[in-house]
Parts: sequence; C-alpha cells; structure tokens
Amino acid sequence: MTESQPRLRPETVAVTAGRPQRVPDAPLNPPLIPAATYVGSPRTDGPEIGYGRYGNPGWQALEQAIGELEGGRCLTFASGMAAAAAILDLFGPGTVVVRPAHCYLGVAAAMEQRALRHGWTVREADLTDTEAFLAAARSADLIWLESPTNPMMEVADLAAIAAGRDPRTVLVVDNTFASPLLQQPLRDGADLVLHSATKIISGHSDALLGAVVVRDRDDHDHFERLEVSRKLGGAIPGTLETYLVLRGLRTLPLRQAAAQASAMILAERLVSQPAVRKVRYPGFGSLLSIELVDAETADRFVAALRLWVFATSLGGVESMLERRRRWAGELPTVPEGLIRMSVGVEHVEDLWADLDHALRGLG
Ligand SMILES: *Cc1c(COP(=O)(O)O)cnc(C)c1O
Repeated sequence: MTESQPRLRPETVAVTAGRPQRVPDAPLNPPLIPAATYVGSPRTDGPEIGYGRYGNPGWQALEQAIGELEGGRCLTFASGMAAAAAILDLFGPGTVVVRPAHCYLGVAAAMEQRALRHGWTVREADLTDTEAFLAAARSADLIWLESPTNPMMEVADLAAIAAGRDPRTVLVVDNTFASPLLQQPLRDGADLVLHSATKIISGHSDALLGAVVVRDRDDHDHFERLEVSRKLGGAIPGTLETYLVLRGLRTLPLRQAAAQASAMILAERLVSQPAVRKVRYPGFGSLLSIELVDAETADRFVAALRLWVFATSLGGVESMLERRRRWAGELPTVPEGLIRMSVGVEHVEDLWADLDHALRGLG
C-alpha cells in the first residue's frame, strides 16, 4: 500500500494485510515455511533472517496484519502468557505495578511471582473508578489494564486513564476481550497492547499464540527490547500457529460481528430469566457473564447444555462457557454461580434454545 491510498477499513485490512507481493505466480497467501535456519549471505551485510529463532516470513505476515489493525508495530510470541512475560521482563527489581482487581489469572500470578522473587509491589485497584485507579497508579512504573475484565466484564475509561497518568508510567492494555476491532488502546494513549491471539483473533480454538503491539512513538525502545527478549528467551511463535492465526484473522470482522449480534440478543433475553440473577454484558463484544444463585445450580445448568461447550477458552467459532470458580485460583470476589460465556457463530436461536431448555430444567 502506498501513502497516497486512502486508509483502509479494518474489514479490508484483515483481508489484505500480510500478503505476498502481487507478481505473476506468487501465491496469494504467505506460505508456511518450516525453517530452522536460512542460507546466509557471506559477502554482504544486508539484512538476513539468519536462524529460525530470529524470524520467519510467516510471523512477519501475521505481525503486519495485527500491527495494522492496532495501529502499531507487532511482535508475536509462543502464547499470550509468553507475550505477557516478555512485557513484564522489561521491568526490573522493585517495580511498582497497578492492575485491576480482576484480571487474567495467569498475568496476576506472573506478577505475584515477581513480587516474591524480585520485590515488586503489586497494587490492585477498581478500574471502573478512574479517579481511584489513577490515585493507586501515582508513582507506579507500570499500569496493567484489561478491559473488559475477565470474568467480571468491568470496563475502564482507557483514554481517561492514559491521559491522567504520569507520562513516565508505562501503560499496557490486554486487549484480548475487545479485539483490535472494538478497541485500539494505542490510539487512546497506551504504550503497549497485549493479545492472546489464541482467542478471538485466531477464532478456531486450534492454536496458542501471543502478540504485543508497540506504539509507533516508542520512547523506551520497547520494540527492540522485546525482540531481543524473544530471541534470548526463545518463546517464539510456532510456524504452523502463525499460519493458522493469520488464516483465522482474515474472517475476524465477520466472526466478531456475528458473535456480537448474537451476544446482544442473548444478553437481553437472559436478563428476563428468573433463574439468572445478573447479566454482565458491557454492551459490545462476544463475551458475557451470568450469575446463577449458587455453584450447584450453575453446575446443573452447564451439565444440561447440549450445544454450548463446557471449556475454559473463549473467542472461538463454537460457543463455550464455564463456571469460573471451578478453578481454585479464581478470586473469591467472583460469585460462585458466575458463568462466563463466549458466544460463537452458530445460529442464535439454536444457542438460545439450548440455554432456555437448560434454564427451564432448573425448576
Ligand atoms: C487467554 C488469555 C491470556 C493468556 O493467553 P494464552 O494464549 O492462553 O497464553 C491473557 N489474557 C487474557 C485476557 C486471556 O483471555
């Protein structure tokens, strides 16, 4: 794409980004290249990939696509957690970090490890209260945001937090739940964006992959430091995984639109169900949580479903759900009867019929 062309819309970017050059007989898609090493160029100092841990054209194609959607430069990693660990490793001993009271448990645990081993201070704050969150973030080195949060579906005012923070405080946003289509945190002033591309970006529950997107104005050399960390840490993306995730990303806007439309309908119908005490739906996206009266009721409800898959992941074409407190590590502030639901792309009436049948069975 040349500069003079109009900026393409996300639906078009998803289809066009990361393609090989259009020359006769070039494949339309970047090929899957399983390479541990590459032929070197002994007589030139030109750029070369060199070795399989340093790069792969397939990674670059996916990175271009995610980077364009988020509006920054992207690096992919072996998983969302590998990407999160690489970000946390940018910070040294004694780091002060503020995170939401509810966030992805793996990230919370990784911070806790650093608190124990490297003297980090981890502050928790309510991200729905911008003033309180900013007060907790005063003099912090790192703000870690997730919005909507897992599994409480709380939403932060990203732009207000970005604008109100001390500019020396690095702002990271885990954008997994919203996807790059519904929220672009770099444009709101974040420094780094994290994705578990395992989820909505990939969309087919068949690959683990993580991504970090760095703002173009990169005052802290985050991009170079993360790239070195990936080379030395070795948490590189799999070649097959980047291929699968890029293939999934091509239809991200279609899947997202279909799943979101169904999630809105389901959220609205669930509100009026007597067995459902609360529906947590932020008004956008394909994820929601509902609260049933207790764990036993929630387990009976889940067991009665035939179409919805009982599984812990999210963002796939198949609708999935789980009672979060079945995990010992889940926070006690998450109600026992809370079920997180990830809406897929099945027909909404089939999804509803399954839920309705199971709710009726609760008696
Ligand atoms: C799944 C997830 C992660 C971790 O990603 P993996 O790909 O499973 O390592 C991080 N943050 C959020 C919000 C997630 O849902």
